[in-house]
Amino acid sequence: MSISRREFMQVLAIASAGGMAISHKDVLAAKPGMSERLYDLPAFGNVSFMHFTDCHAQLMPLYFREPSVNLGVAGALGKAPHLVGDALLKQFGIASHTAQAHAFTYLDFEKAAKTYGKVGGFAHLATLIKQVRASRPHALLLDGGDTWQGSATALWTNGQDMVDACKLLGVNLMSPHWEFTLGAARVKEIIEKDFKGKINFLAQNVKTTDFGDQVFEPYVIREMNGVPVAVIGQAFPYTPIANPRHMVPDWTFGIQDENMQKMVDEARQKGAQAVIVLSHNGMDVDLKMASRVTGIDAIMGGHTHDGIPIPTVVNNAKGQTLVTNAGSNGKFLGVLDLDVRAGKVQGFKYRLLPVFSNLLPADAEMQAHIDRVRAPYKQKLDEKLAVSEGLLYRRGNFNGSWDQLIVDALMEVKGAEIAFSPGFRWGTTILPGQAITRDNLMDQVAITYPATTLTEMTGDTIKTILEDVCDNLFNPDPYYQQGGDMVRVGGLEYSCSPNAKAGARINNMTLNGKGIEASKKYKVASWAPVAEGAQGEAIWDVMETYFKAHKVIKSRKLNQPKLLGMDGNPGFAK
Ligand SMILES: [Zn+2]
Repeated sequence: MSISRREFMQVLAIASAGGMAISHKDVLAAKPGMSERLYDLPAFGNVSFMHFTDCHAQLMPLYFREPSVNLGVAGALGKAPHLVGDALLKQFGIASHTAQAHAFTYLDFEKAAKTYGKVGGFAHLATLIKQVRASRPHALLLDGGDTWQGSATALWTNGQDMVDACKLLGVNLMSPHWEFTLGAARVKEIIEKDFKGKINFLAQNVKTTDFGDQVFEPYVIREMNGVPVAVIGQAFPYTPIANPRHMVPDWTFGIQDENMQKMVDEARQKGAQAVIVLSHNGMDVDLKMASRVTGIDAIMGGHTHDGIPIPTVVNNAKGQTLVTNAGSNGKFLGVLDLDVRAGKVQGFKYRLLPVFSNLLPADAEMQAHIDRVRAPYKQKLDEKLAVSEGLLYRRGNFNGSWDQLIVDALMEVKGAEIAFSPGFRWGTTILPGQAITRDNLMDQVAITYPATTLTEMTGDTIKTILEDVCDNLFNPDPYYQQGGDMVRVGGLEYSCSPNAKAGARINNMTLNGKGIEASKKYKVASWAPVAEGAQGEAIWDVMETYFKAHKVIKSRKLNQPKLLGMDGNPGFAK
């Protein structure tokens, strides 16, 4: 099915006039005509890309709270993506108390979420993609990766629900990260069977450990309106560090600037008049790469889940490169239009469109697919495990209430005095009073290495672990930022100085008011071990045990470190 732009605008007009989307008199409520204004996107130029990234297998509409802590240090201080709340609105000229403000920030989250409703959902994303395609039939659809992991159905179908959904969505090109946690053999199988002739899986920076051969296609050249354009893929460079090495034993990763430059030059020599990198580096790494590698017109990035409304323009030795980042969880669709004439890019337009599920009617074909893949599991998915009295969210540099709940459960169920939970950036949000279903629980924990562990660790070891993870987040050189957000910590309190040197950022560690002793042993519970062979029960079983004992989940106080030297940082909202 494809609908014309005019038909689409009519559907939207009906949707808002009929009040099906928003009927509030609330000050936050959308004004009539909001959907038309949000999604009216006149065509520009002759080359177009649509980009979504880090959907983390979220087929259904959801709530997703953007972070209130996303600190930038050193050269990243005060620059995109390290802006939150009002600082972000100000930087990008977004009026507060609007749909856009709700999409891009955590501000007034509960109230705004009730006003504007859920976001994302592949059926709604599909409708938006068809609309953009109607005015840009040549546009390529890019999937930035972290697509086959993050939900119960993706885990239980070994990624198949997402693979089929992406084919239906009309994805043309993709680059990976969490895909690799399905294992090398499964990744190869999907590329060779499902994707063959339909979707190109691109990664210039993955090679075989033995001879250094390319494992995947590094790039493709496609023609749009007679203009040859290249898209180069960049996988997450630290996959074997941030995720289990044993899942991709025969492949090497890394940033590989030099090979990137080689690929750009090769594509240009073959006639590409515009070069795009579909990246899973994370935005800070993309910004640095844009300053070092020349000849790239735009890096369309993901991994760090930053929803950035306006591209950053980076200067380098031979010109300029745009860097974009398109958020997460199916919440946004980036649209980049280029005007390519006389062999080069003369102008561009970029929009990062929030996907408001109530303003975009569900695409029937995609909805049927989603209903079909969920049907065999429906009862299991919908089972209510508990009710949350407070807001449960994850995203943020240090802790979220969902992670607090996970570390609390780990300590109680495993009998530990301290607990760690990884700094994952995915995971959906639950509003106060909402039931926690098994579907919601799996949105936080659905991974292929879910074992929990209980270990005795000395105070020294604990400090080393915290320092290591902290350096992955706050190393002033983004090329050494190797993971996600800071590990979430239960029980143990500490202070953190992001500007300090490696090994000196974590201080004042205490447990129940007493100082941590370097040589004393403490019982620490954790989950998602990257080393092979852990035998503990899966994290979802631990959580279900906890929910059986606590049917009503009270609002909880976040155990956050005392931040030192961060006053006035625009990536930090108190
Ligand atoms: Zn990622």
